[in-house]
Amino acid sequence: MSKLLDLLGEELFPANFTCDVCGCETFDGKNICPKCAKELHENDGAVCPICGRKTQAHAVCLECKKDPPSYDRAVSALVYEDSAVALVLAFKKNKPYLKDYFASLLAPKCMEFAAADGVCFIPMTKKDERCRGYNQAELLARELAKRLSLPLMPVLEKVRRTGEQKTLSKKERRDNLKGCFKTAAEVKGKSLILVDDVLTTGATAEEAAKTLKKKGAEHVYFATVASVENKVQP
Ligand SMILES: [Zn+2]
Ligand SMILES: [Zn+2]
Repeated sequence: MSKLLDLLGEELFPANFTCDVCGCETFDGKNICPKCAKELHENDGAVCPICGRKTQAHAVCLECKKDPPSYDRAVSALVYEDSAVALVLAFKKNKPYLKDYFASLLAPKCMEFAAADGVCFIPMTKKDERCRGYNQAELLARELAKRLSLPLMPVLEKVRRTGEQKTLSKKERRDNLKGCFKTAAEVKGKSLILVDDVLTTGATAEEAAKTLKKKGAEHVYFATVASVENKVQP
């Protein structure tokens, strides 16, 4: 009888989920409710062909023109606004399982780098990683590598803590990060997809890509879940 009740229970109350953005219940087996999904903007319009950020026109943005990055190209799946901000925050804080969803969005964007030697990621210091329990960039990189059938190559190490970057200017961010990464494996002649959660000012991407290029990496492609729109007109 109890077995029958169990079965009935499953029939009557199918597994429901809560929205990873707003926390409301969803009943369609999805982790994002329709309202929040509408506020999730795919980065598939006009983008800068170098930094991959949303731009007004499909042309190299002013920032990349003035100050070309050390990575060769960057791609991102979402525009970093509205629901994407909340999702990335949840991914960092307590929802590591979002790696699957994010990798499914990012993998198609990385197909053009499928000839790369491997996938690496922005590392955390050992201490920071112990505090958080996981490095979200590593989880995403691992998942992305699987989907691209490429090896995961943890070639970078973070050798010192860099603190909160949010309140710093672009120049201060760069100074703050200087020398914080080192290579932990041979990268000479390698083409690498470098993964992080978001691209905002690009200071982290720059420092990491510079470190890899200095050690002889041939190509560095930077891939993130989301990037901020570049509002400066070219
Ligand atoms: Zn929602
Ligand atoms: Zn750009």
